[in-house]
Amino acid sequence: MAHQFHFRYVPREQSTDPSAMCEHHCDRVIQFISDDSNEVRYEICALDAEVIAKVFLEAIEGESRSLAGSGQ
Ligand SMILES: [Zn+2]
Repeated sequence: MAHQFHFRYVPREQSTDPSAMCEHHCDRVIQFISDDSNEVRYEICALDAEVIAKVFLEAIEGESRSLAGSGQ
């Protein structure tokens, strides 16, 4: 079964690595937390998350366009 995650948006001090400041010096981070183990698996600031979300959407849209264009 695939891993399930929940998310928290927490102050930088609650990060698993508070010294790892992003380049925008955001004071909060989004944590991806495993539902199974409650471990923090990944952390990202909101600005980076926005950039990645756009890249995901572009990839998905690009894929649907290429599928539509293939005539299937
Ligand atoms: Zn940031």
